[in-house]
This record gives sequence, C-alpha cells and structure tokens, in this order.
Amino acid sequence: MKWLGGRQSDNVEYSSGGGFGGRLMGGGIGAGIVGLIIYLITGYTPNQVDQMTRTANSGSEQVTENYHAEKGSAGDFASVVLAETEVIWDSLFRANGLTYRKPKMRLFNGVTESACGGASSAMGPFYCPEDNKIYLDVSFFNELKDRFSAPGDFANAYVIAHEVGHHIQYLLGTTEKMGRLRNDGGRGPHSISVMIELQADFYAGVWAHYAEKMNRADNPVVIERGDIEAALNAANAIGDDRLQQQTQGRIMPDAFTHGTSRQRMYWFKKGYQTGDMSQGNTFEEL
Ligand SMILES: [Zn+2]
Repeated sequence: MKWLGGRQSDNVEYSSGGGFGGRLMGGGIGAGIVGLIIYLITGYTPNQVDQMTRTANSGSEQVTENYHAEKGSAGDFASVVLAETEVIWDSLFRANGLTYRKPKMRLFNGVTESACGGASSAMGPFYCPEDNKIYLDVSFFNELKDRFSAPGDFANAYVIAHEVGHHIQYLLGTTEKMGRLRNDGGRGPHSISVMIELQADFYAGVWAHYAEKMNRADNPVVIERGDIEAALNAANAIGDDRLQQQTQGRIMPDAFTHGTSRQRMYWFKKGYQTGDMSQGNTFEEL
C-alpha cells in the first residue's frame, strides 16, 4: 500500500492527551454503559472495557505526542486513509442519490473524552454515533502488529475503514434501527451486535474494492499486491474466537460481540469482491 504524500483529510482532530484523567475517574460505570453503545473493533466485552478504562486511568501518565513529528507518522497515515474513505463513500452515496456527511476522526494518546463517554486506548478504535466521530489511539497500530500479529499499512487501513463502516450504518439509519432491536439479550455469534460488526467489516470490504479500482496517481492511497491478504489477516486475528483463545485459552460463544474470525473474513471478502452495498445484509442471518 502506498500512501506517503497522499492528500490528507480536513476532518482529523488531534488530542494532546492528558487533562482528561479527572473526568474519567469514577467513570467506571459510564464506561460500562459506553461499552454497550459504541462500536469497537476488537471483541472486548463492556466489562473488559470497564476494567481497562480503570487500568488506563490508574496508570495516568499521559504522553503528548506530536502526530506530525515525522514524515510517515501514524497520524498522517490515518488522515490519508480517512481522505480515501471520503472520496469513495461520497461517490457511492451520490450514485445512490444520497448525500455523504463525512465523519470526524479524533486521534488521541492514552485517554480522551467522547460524546459517548470517556475513552481509553485500551478499548481500541471506536466510532461514537452521538458525535459522528471515530476515536483512534494510534498506538493501536502497534498492538495490531505485536499482539495480534497483523502488521501492515493495509491492516491498519482496514481498521479505519471498519470504523467508517459504522458511520455508514449511522447515516443509513441502520444504527438506530438495529439499536432498537439489539436488546436481544444474547451476545452469541448471531446476535444483533455481531451482525452490526460484520456489516462494518462488509463496508470496509466495499471500500477496499473501490480503493483498488481507483489506483491511480491522484488517489490518496494506492493498493498493492498482498494488501487484501493483510486486511484478511487482521480480520482473522481480531475475531472474537481468536481473541478469546488468546486471553482465556478457550472459546465462549456467549461472549461474542464481533463475530468469529471466519465470519469477519467472510464479510470483508464479500464486500471486497462485490463492491455492492446492497449485499451487506448481515442481519439476514438472524
Ligand atoms: Zn466495530
């Protein structure tokens, strides 16, 4: 994947970190609720998120990062990828007679505030439908590489495209519709929560389909051989079953929120191969 020198998005905010610790203090309950309504990319349960928020809070040293400190920084990368999603979704929406309202992206380090509540880096990237923002601690890219063995720029791009996928769901009214239905009590592999996540993977695949087609000089991102495999590898690595095996040594389907590795790869691939938004009805499986 080539992206250096690509056009950057105007919709990125940079948080210097720090200063939010006090507000997150005692935010354990809030974080638990937030876990139910925000959309993470990893399969953490709200309890885990709660735990992690507290842990992040207790170790409250904040590092202020200059996101543009060096050429090729993670901040620049995220901004270029977001720009690419804007180009593609804008044209897809227009082709369907719709208007694409671009999401914002907030890059942070450590902890930050969102309209959905406090956020910590340990939660992984997420989308908050209340403020239409993607929250991303760029250190997650290191985690993807080191902890989940899913390295590569395109694996990182997939993560961003997945969060944008949640914004698409918001714009199309799916978030609201499914939110009303999601009190299904279950967190199993066929719960509404999982279908929402798989659809975001599908939209990430649709994005990859057009990103590849648009490979040309004036495009922010150029996809190369091996990129799709890197994204599939990431989808595979952060499936709930894999995460659970890593953390607990066994699989507990009841705790699934994002879908199994197989499901995630299936839907990303389907979006990538078809490029057809209408084929992303993951809810049919209910
Ligand atoms: Zn998600």
